[in-house]
Amino acid sequence: FQFLPRKFKIAITGSPNDRAVTKAHDIGLRMVRNPGGEPGFEVMVGGGLGRTPMIGMTVRDFLPEADLLPYVEAVLSVYNVLGRRDNKYKARIKITLHETGKDEITRMIEEEFLRLRPQFGGNDQKLLDDIREAFAPPAFRNAPIEAYDAFYTADPVFRAWADTNLTQHRNDQYAIVTVSLKAPGETPGDATSAQMRVIADLAETYGHSDLRISHEQNVILPHVHKSDLPALHAALVQAGLGTANVGLLSDIIACPGMDYCALATARSIPVAQELATHFEALKLEHEIGPLKIKISGCINACGHHHVGHIGILGLDRAGVENYQITLGGDGTEDAVIGEKTGPGFAYTEIVPAIERILRAYLGLRTEASETFLQAFKRVGMEPFKLALYESEGAQDAA
Ligand code: SF4
Repeated sequence: FQFLPRKFKIAITGSPNDRAVTKAHDIGLRMVRNPGGEPGFEVMVGGGLGRTPMIGMTVRDFLPEADLLPYVEAVLSVYNVLGRRDNKYKARIKITLHETGKDEITRMIEEEFLRLRPQFGGNDQKLLDDIREAFAPPAFRNAPIEAYDAFYTADPVFRAWADTNLTQHRNDQYAIVTVSLKAPGETPGDATSAQMRVIADLAETYGHSDLRISHEQNVILPHVHKSDLPALHAALVQAGLGTANVGLLSDIIACPGMDYCALATARSIPVAQELATHFEALKLEHEIGPLKIKISGCINACGHHHVGHIGILGLDRAGVENYQITLGGDGTEDAVIGEKTGPGFAYTEIVPAIERILRAYLGLRTEASETFLQAFKRVGMEPFKLALYESEGAQDAA
């Protein structure tokens, strides 16, 4: 597969909560169990973002774990044969699937899989065993967590961080820590070399020497004992890494955009910085609650704007930056491509436009626990369009 028609991306999630955007990848693999309790994969094919966003389709509801490598090879083989090489914009597997049809491509994959399966006589399972061993759970400590509970109750700064930046671990004494690289006003996803050294040291001291980088541009310490969390948090704060905003408005994904990328048609990073600082000044972030804003600096969609609850796409209109907004996108297990609101906004107008959308949301939600995405699904686009464009028209008229 050295000369596939174009690039090919595979995403895997081991959780019912899809945090890897599997439905927007060429192949998405979701670990599931069959009715007998055996582990395997749901296999999705043909997702992708870019200029032609598509949600992947399921070609196998349940693939036994032992069949994973031959099945993935079968998908790649079919793409290698059918994928278009005459037009680079149509060369991805999502277009192959769209043009061939799901039933036919599934038939071809299954046929190729049956042909390939006998060739996988055990080395692939050995490889999987080696990988499994490399990711074996660490030796978890058994220690009291009362100190954590007391600190959580006593310290509001720690509590705010714990509420947003910790995720439940399967071991009750442990937590999954997300170190936010989204301090308002800073470049989203950036860490200095000194900060990276601090995180590496903290992973060694408190995190079983394990850390991961998330596609949401943060750092994850997957196994931290709760009794270590106050000390970890204090060290993060000292290094400027204690921002308590994971999953909130300022936890924005922004691609490099015009600041660094030769393909960009507009800036992304400054838009993210201005949004984060503006809403920090308004003190509205916690009131607004869970929200994913994603920004791309061109149609290639590296910032995943199509699956942002609010997506922002920077375009070039006759030499001037213009930002198109999409609403209602979702990159989780319920993946949806966002809907365009209408005409785009100039650079200086994009932050006020997002504020109008969010004030409309605060006004129409039924209760504080109804998230932006839930409210959008309930009321649809119209109230947000009204908020966006009517007041703009009124300003123009004035
Ligand atoms: S979306 Fe466009 S501007 Fe942003 S990183 Fe990708 S290619 Fe560059």
